[in-house]
Amino acid sequence: MHDSNAPAPNAQTTPAADGPAPFDGARSDWTCPFCPLLCDDIDARLGGDETLAAPATRCTRLALALTRYDASDNVCSPAIDGTPATLDAALDEAAALLAQARRPLFGGCATDIAGARALYTLAAVCGATLDSLHGDALSAATLALQDRGAFFTTLSEVRSRADLLVVFACEPSARHPRFYERIASGTGMAREICFVGCEIDPAASRLDKTRARSMLADASPHDLLAIWSAIAEGRKPDLLEDGSGMATTLASLTARVHEARYAAFVIEPAALTQPHAALLIEALHRIVKAVNRTSRAGVLTLGGADGALSVNQTLTWLSGFPLRTRVSKPGRLPGTPPLDHDPYRYRTARLLAAREIDLLLWIASFEPHAPPADLDDVTPAIVLGAPALASAVTPRGAKTVYIPVATPGIDCDGHLFRVDASVVVPLHAARHIALPTVASIAARLSDDLAARAALTRRPA
Ligand code: SF4
Repeated sequence: MHDSNAPAPNAQTTPAADGPAPFDGARSDWTCPFCPLLCDDIDARLGGDETLAAPATRCTRLALALTRYDASDNVCSPAIDGTPATLDAALDEAAALLAQARRPLFGGCATDIAGARALYTLAAVCGATLDSLHGDALSAATLALQDRGAFFTTLSEVRSRADLLVVFACEPSARHPRFYERIASGTGMAREICFVGCEIDPAASRLDKTRARSMLADASPHDLLAIWSAIAEGRKPDLLEDGSGMATTLASLTARVHEARYAAFVIEPAALTQPHAALLIEALHRIVKAVNRTSRAGVLTLGGADGALSVNQTLTWLSGFPLRTRVSKPGRLPGTPPLDHDPYRYRTARLLAAREIDLLLWIASFEPHAPPADLDDVTPAIVLGAPALASAVTPRGAKTVYIPVATPGIDCDGHLFRVDASVVVPLHAARHIALPTVASIAARLSDDLAARAALTRRPA
């Protein structure tokens, strides 16, 4: 809510604590936080009006993201039911809502590692469930890992070793525009990219020293993987051939995978058919496992934008469970587990449809993802969002609090896991707008709730 007459909310924050680093107009090694590739070679330019540009980087996703930041972010005010408020007043209202809630959901969860840590602490204070706006894709990958295990590979390994890429049913550059640049940079290796169950990604067809081809683009992914899995396990293709040519094609692909020095399989859970993406990922891992009996291959899983991968990792190391976990309050009812993970029960869409929550805390500190449209009008909401989200948080039937927050890597420092979950990448502020971080807001809410709880325990 940009309102020049509003109280100056951001003056109340302490940038030293959240730490915008000095950024004097230009920086050639800035790290982009807008997709999990976390490219760290960006030549970023800061305008006098706090706008940002990266003219030398050919990335549509980055260019679009940067258009959402300007000088008006400095006067973006918190709001209660659409009326500008001070940060203290908004926090007080948010704490009151959390104190009353019995089944709060922390949704979206688009933040960095520090934000995830603070949200987990807050969830433990108020008994919340945590899910991500990319929860369906994350859960599919997690379920497959739990059921089958996995042979992972990393960006570095793909870049230095993979002479064959098998891209399964996705278009990597659509959501990760510099994917091919990242895997080819600094190497002159000749590669082959087989797009299986999809067309050739147009960005791949422009690569040097790379042969791209597509096979079985229109096949059902479930049929394709079932037959491929059988062939990888040694079944005779002629016994599986139904006249479509699928088994024969997959037999020749399997032979090609075994010939390769190192084959990298690339999947993107968000691009797979829901609700059974986990079955597809599990089947693909079975194939890769079979390949590894005699050759070398690994899987690179694309996804986890908006901090989703980082929040999932952080929650797992703190609690032992990934997202879609409910954290009980210390004074829980007898028989209630302290932590309860269920990828189906704690899915945001299901919780909203079944009206099983009585408060939504929505976190979107990167892209301006609005709270789910199916949030009903009687459930209060607290939205911690980048300033670009402000105009989307309008008055509703139930109390609605909006607090603008810093984007890690734009307004504050931070850390995120890279797409292959093997590297934690530091982010550095690119401009000087002192918005509070998700971590600082969550910590203040935790302190406020603890103080309220202590008051209620104090003897009269
Ligand atoms: S590919 Fe991703 S990380 Fe790299 S510049 Fe584009 S949006 Fe940023």
